[in-house]
Amino acid sequence: EIAPHGPYETGFYSQEYDIYSESRLTLMSDLREALQEDRTELHYQPKLCLASGSVIGLEALIRWNHPDRGWVFPADFIPLAEETGVITQLTRWAIERSIRDLSSLMDVYPDLTMSINISARDLAAGELEEAITSALQRHGVKVQSLILELTETAAMEDPGKGLMALEALAAMGLKISIDDFGSGYSSLSYLKQLPATELKLDRSLIEDIETSESSRVIVGTAVNMAHSLDYHIVAEGVESDQAARLLAELGCDRLQGFWLCRPLPLRELREWLR
Ligand code: C2E
Ligand code: MG
Ligand code: MG
Ligand code: MG
Repeated sequence: EIAPHGPYETGFYSQEYDIYSESRLTLMSDLREALQEDRTELHYQPKLCLASGSVIGLEALIRWNHPDRGWVFPADFIPLAEETGVITQLTRWAIERSIRDLSSLMDVYPDLTMSINISARDLAAGELEEAITSALQRHGVKVQSLILELTETAAMEDPGKGLMALEALAAMGLKISIDDFGSGYSSLSYLKQLPATELKLDRSLIEDIETSESSRVIVGTAVNMAHSLDYHIVAEGVESDQAARLLAELGCDRLQGFWLCRPLPLRELREWLR
């Protein structure tokens, strides 16, 4: 039986949009528990430097195999974790795990960098310095090996505070990367002030690069702009030889995508690197 629409179900405030609905709260308490018991995982996607033709870094991406729901992807829980604050626990876990895993690769690959995704809420919480310093010390990893990825939208959330927090992190020797560049509304004059060393072009700009002249023009312009501001530029979501070739011609420095390698668990990544 279908209930008639009441005054509170006209679209503004339906159960579906309520972040505190029961099922979403259950998902968050399951996530907290999984993080606490170390049942979440990180997969690592390599980043290729075109000038040297070698893998220069890895990006850590969270994976969660939920006991009832199966694999839940980041897009299905990261936004909710950000809204509810669970993200600070998630980020602490990701910092610890990724630095530990990087240290286990350092004997063979001493120059690899590790990129960790962080959110605006992590900057506001102000716990990053301590968590990172402690993990680096315990695992014997140097600060220069770490890159923090922050989306341009997150960087814009509270520009004043965000900038100060990023400057403090950069002063520690951490590298900052602007993720999903070209997907939001950031102002270039603000981006220019950020202590970043890398811009990552959003996949939406890359996906039709083979067929769309205007995408090629936009990417070419972004590459030139990034270089004139002294940023390295990474294309993410590269899926074909043809796209990789075009991006190289347009002057992109670094590539990431299924074309090179999918995100892999540590053990498989080790094999792949070999
Ligand atoms: P992102 O940081 O922009 O990561 C890139 C996403 O694109 C990843 O999705 C990756 O698996 C996917 N990808 C890489 N190459 C290709 C390709 O060639 N084609 C296609 N179609 N996709 C590709 P994933 O792992 O589902 O993560 C989605 C987003 O969730 C990430 O976007 C990031 O914003 C967030 N995220 C993932 N792990 C973490 C984490 O540990 N902490 C935080 N705060 N956010 C995370
Ligand atoms: Mg990223
Ligand atoms: Mg991205
Ligand atoms: Mg993204």
